[in-house]
Amino acid sequence: MIASDTCHSSYTGVTAMTEGYDERASVSLAPGKLELVRQFLNTVDFEEGTDELETPRGARRWLVAQGLIRRNEQVSERDRMRLVELRAALRALAEAHSGAPLAPGALVRLNRQAAKASIAAVFTGSDDVQLVGDKGDVDDAVSALLAIVCESIRDGTWSRLKACRDETCRWAFYDASRNRVGTWCSMAVCGNRAKTRAYRERQRQRSS
Ligand SMILES: [Zn+2]
Repeated sequence: MIASDTCHSSYTGVTAMTEGYDERASVSLAPGKLELVRQFLNTVDFEEGTDELETPRGARRWLVAQGLIRRNEQVSERDRMRLVELRAALRALAEAHSGAPLAPGALVRLNRQAAKASIAAVFTGSDDVQLVGDKGDVDDAVSALLAIVCESIRDGTWSRLKACRDETCRWAFYDASRNRVGTWCSMAVCGNRAKTRAYRERQRQRSS
């Protein structure tokens, strides 16, 4: 099911990239583990009106599928709310990366989640350290996502994780452009939609 005016509804990450067909190929995957955060942000699909974190069961399914919690781990409504708050806060940063003003309260929400996370350094080799525990629960999952964000801020990739400026879309994408000025997940769909709107607006002003 591919609607002509949606840019990502049937986007399936790596598959779409490797097969390299249609405009979804221009929705860039984030490098390394940051892709997991990008997918976390896209658990809500504004265009389709779906949310994988809508119920604790859905949240659990997503976390298990990503290997973020153990299979026998339960997810409570409180856990789900925590994930939703984390996602909203990280989304606000991604929206700021594509030029929107930083949503009020985003940093407070993010810091609240960071304060609850238990990021601990576990050395796994002479040159390797993991920043999360081994409980495999939701606390670890939140910590793992935050640890990825911390690493990507350090290596300079974080500011390229953006949310599409098209209000009906808001899909999280990685801006791989050289000049880092991308604001739409897909130039072919959302970029053109914005251009068409601007064109119609100019026509309207001219005729009035
Ligand atoms: Zn878009």
